[in-house]
Amino acid sequence: MSETKQYDVLVVGGGPAGSTTAALLAKAGRDVLLLERERFPRYHIGESLITGVTPVMDALGLIDELDARFQWKYGVTLVWGSEPEPWRISFGQAGLYDHSWHVVRSEFDQLLLNKARELGVEVREEAQVTEVLTGENGEVRGVAYKHGGEKHRVAARFVVDASGQSRAVSRNLADVSWQNDLRNVAVWSYFSPYKPLPDGNQGDILVESVKGGGWLWGIPVTGEKLSLGHVLPVDQMTAKTADGRSQQQVFEDAVAASEVAQWMIAGGERVDAVRTIRDWSHVCEQFHGPGWLTVGDAAGFIDPLFSQGVWLGTSGAWMAARALDAALENPADTARALDRYQTVYRQLFDEFLSFVRFFYDPTRIRKMYMERAQQMARVPRDNLQGGFASMISGIQALPDVTGFDPLGTESLQVGRA
Ligand SMILES: Cc1cc2nc3c(=O)[nH]c(=O)nc-3n(C[C@H](O)[C@H](O)[C@H](O)COP(=O)(O)OP(=O)(O)OC[C@H]3O[C@@H](n4cnc5c(N)ncnc54)[C@H](O)[C@@H]3O)c2cc1C
Repeated sequence: MSETKQYDVLVVGGGPAGSTTAALLAKAGRDVLLLERERFPRYHIGESLITGVTPVMDALGLIDELDARFQWKYGVTLVWGSEPEPWRISFGQAGLYDHSWHVVRSEFDQLLLNKARELGVEVREEAQVTEVLTGENGEVRGVAYKHGGEKHRVAARFVVDASGQSRAVSRNLADVSWQNDLRNVAVWSYFSPYKPLPDGNQGDILVESVKGGGWLWGIPVTGEKLSLGHVLPVDQMTAKTADGRSQQQVFEDAVAASEVAQWMIAGGERVDAVRTIRDWSHVCEQFHGPGWLTVGDAAGFIDPLFSQGVWLGTSGAWMAARALDAALENPADTARALDRYQTVYRQLFDEFLSFVRFFYDPTRIRKMYMERAQQMARVPRDNLQGGFASMISGIQALPDVTGFDPLGTESLQVGRA
């Protein structure tokens, strides 16, 4: 069935990046359709947010609701580097915001999708995009999708790929660079009850390097449930399971090797299945082309060491919405506006990737991590902690995100080191 109507923008995927792009375009008065494969609420990994998300959540009018519904996250407790004792960085050390949130993603994503609806986006759930429709010169004109047992076709001036790692639209349109040193696998589950980290560290995410390789996260998703996960290079996982051991056993060994995690879950039990997912960092070499643009994980994904995925996805979405709005306003500005989005988002992405890569080596002394962050965050040398907090919270990149001008030409804060 073909629809006669042509939308301004068609967004494929209703995760944080898709909902944010759609919501902000509708808020700007654009006619937006969002197609989502699943029916919400649906499970998703990615539960710990950094404070860099605050301005975009504010733009969506969601701060009070996030504050009321979700666990507050004050910082990061690290067991990392050549010194054995745990250390911590609080978000407050970066200035601006003292907390972000740990979220149940099914609820958080539903909140964002409902906000998109409220702002005027037409949302269709259980609508799976199966084909990209192109014109004579290869420009994207719309998509075909399955919904209610039927196949439909719909047209739009721009199609946004927000389909996460499935890259349903851009898979055959953009080249992808895989980061071979960050080809990981993640294994995780949930434990209840659990003991929160002691006073002073309460509300933190725990990030710990594991002696046998890889690292561990501990996220107090709710007051009752702790998310514990292990990230490990794929080749190490292959070696560890070559003798018939399961990925679950490798995960349990990693948890058993962590004194802090053991202390937190002592007296509790595993209350959910053990899940696993591919965790390969990658980035698309083109973030847009004729009639299409990509946001969030569909544009690129970085190993979740610093819980930056939702921040990157929603910040990029905010910039993409402004670029698309400018292109719709004046088609002659399309190339300039979308190129600007690509340039700014790519620099932001690359800068974070470069810091994750530096930090990934757990054998350095703490001061080296701090110094690298301080240089990248461009804060004075006597403020090592502030630099680190600014880098890992996304605050250092905020001027480029909040001040993003799709028709601007000025040089950027990020990448100016
Ligand atoms: C192990 C692990 C741990 C993580 N931990 C964190 C963390 O603590 N904090 C954090 O911020 N990030 C974390 N992330 C990253 C985070 O999950 C992602 O960055 C974030 O979900 C990206 O949002 P998105 O909207 O781009 O994609 P998604 O959230 O994946 O949403 C994409 C949507 O598109 C839909 N879709 C897919 N294909 C189609 C189709 N053909 N048609 C229609 N709809 C389609 C999907 O159903 C989905 O709802 C983690 C990731 C991993 C792998």
